Amino acid sequence: MDQNSETLEAIFHKALSAPKLFNNHEALRSDYVPDHLPFRSDQITSVAQVLSPLLHSSRPSNLLIYGKTGTGKTAATKHVIFKLAQTSKANGVKASFVYSNVRMAGTEYRVLADLANQTGLSIPFTGLAVSEVLSRVQSQIKTKKLHVVFVLDEIDFLVKSFGDRLLYDLTTSADTITPGFLSMVGISNDLQFKEELGARVLSRLSEEEIVFPPYSAQELTTILQERAKFAFNPAAYTEAAVNLCAALSGLEHGDARRAVDLLRIAGEVAEREGSMQLDERHVQIALQKIDQDRISDALKSLPLHAKLVLIAAVKNNLENKSSGSIYENYSSLCKRSGIESLTTRRVSGLVTELDTLGLVSATLVNYGRYGRTKKVTPQISQDVLRQAFHEDGSVTQLLQD
Ligand code: ADP
Ligand code: MG
Repeated sequence: MDQNSETLEAIFHKALSAPKLFNNHEALRSDYVPDHLPFRSDQITSVAQVLSPLLHSSRPSNLLIYGKTGTGKTAATKHVIFKLAQTSKANGVKASFVYSNVRMAGTEYRVLADLANQTGLSIPFTGLAVSEVLSRVQSQIKTKKLHVVFVLDEIDFLVKSFGDRLLYDLTTSADTITPGFLSMVGISNDLQFKEELGARVLSRLSEEEIVFPPYSAQELTTILQERAKFAFNPAAYTEAAVNLCAALSGLEHGDARRAVDLLRIAGEVAEREGSMQLDERHVQIALQKIDQDRISDALKSLPLHAKLVLIAAVKNNLENKSSGSIYENYSSLCKRSGIESLTTRRVSGLVTELDTLGLVSATLVNYGRYGRTKKVTPQISQDVLRQAFHEDGSVTQLLQD
């Protein structure tokens, strides 16, 4: 037996003989829709009330749902849609439900293709003009007299990336298509989203509005205890571990997604260790892992010049660099990479963005009549940067010495 298969055998043996902690791993996936959603009955009732005209074949008003990440918007909406689909089917009522996560779809074309494909059209993966897909959908709805509810989840992403043009066209169609009808449900994680919409799109899309407030720490605890009961075998976790997950997530902004993620990862850590029971220590390890992943994701997705400014700030480990010396370092990094450097003003803007992300801390220091300067202190180490950028050919070299 070679060494590889020996290691594999050991891993498999450990997995086979380890106690089974999860009873239903799926129940902690972030897209899992639980049957029961505590503390959301008001919101669920409101969504159901807006959509229920569908059951007597009237067009429901368009609906805009918003609230911070992890407040149960997606789960509650899917829950209502699912029940509504069941009820319409059982009562012989015609209704089509289309769900598209705009961020996952990624382009306007893919969003419309979701709508087209789920209303019975067959649209190629690429190749048609967006307007052509839209007009095919419109005539499909008319000729088949379809009653369509179209849910656009993470709609703020669509508008930030492509403007509100598609929403303008869709809400206009929703207003005018007949026979058949199209109702839209937009879900936004961004509370400021409405300000980015043109007045006409906004008034059409938000015929009705529902806000999802953040959960309190107490509510998160209840939610998470319920999920844990469902996901784990009874003796496989301590109540304290679950409460810790809720408390750690409640500190931020009542984000149930983070709480559920934390619990799942803690469970995976415990399982990998072969522990008999998930406890608070596993939660602490999971927390570190989540935070590291979050920083690393933020670093990887920075634009090139922001990466260079950050490297300029972090390299040589000096505290309190002046913005002038950062600019010098940055310029020489640009020269080494053979790219043109941005103006001091743009770089100063990038420093502010890095500050917002918590990657550096920038403070203005007053020198009386000598004026003011920005002092920049990195909040991450050179090692963390190296880790995050090690596959990034455009910058790894710059961190070598
Ligand atoms: P949002 O769409 O607002 O970002 P989600 O609906 O995706 O939030 O919820 C995030 C996670 O938290 C999901 O795993 C979801 O199942 C869970 N969740 C949210 N609210 C509740 C609740 N009231 N009860 C149980 N689980 C919930
Ligand atoms: Mg969501």
